[in-house]
Amino acid sequence: MSAVRYDLPEADDFTRPYWDAAARGRLLLRRCADCGRAHHYPREFCPSCWAGEDRVTWEAASGRATLYTWSVIHRNDLPPFGERVPYTAAVVDLEEGPRMMTEVVDCPEADLRIGMPLRVTFRETADGVWIAVFRP
Ligand SMILES: [Zn+2]
Repeated sequence: MSAVRYDLPEADDFTRPYWDAAARGRLLLRRCADCGRAHHYPREFCPSCWAGEDRVTWEAASGRATLYTWSVIHRNDLPPFGERVPYTAAVVDLEEGPRMMTEVVDCPEADLRIGMPLRVTFRETADGVWIAVFRP
């Protein structure tokens, strides 16, 4: 029996490299050769200067980030999030510039601070599906 889940990505041909890298413990970004900026979530074109897909390539992120903001979730009716409460939904600033929605793990709520340094780690959320989360 498989229950409906709201936490699984729908990988396609374009995002497959991202998910394959995540399964190997690497966070990928997209970087534009025209303006030099990195972005996340992955898009085929550059969201800063609209350069096309031939100018934007994958690169490995350092995995370093700082905490921009967060919210500790105590109730979520969408499966399977209800089984995980409380958890810390967060927005982090990656060292390379992009801001990323994620989750902070292994950190008590009382220790969360704006600007605190974080490092990426990966959680297997389903068979072979690894999600980037961050820890202090
Ligand atoms: Zn660009």
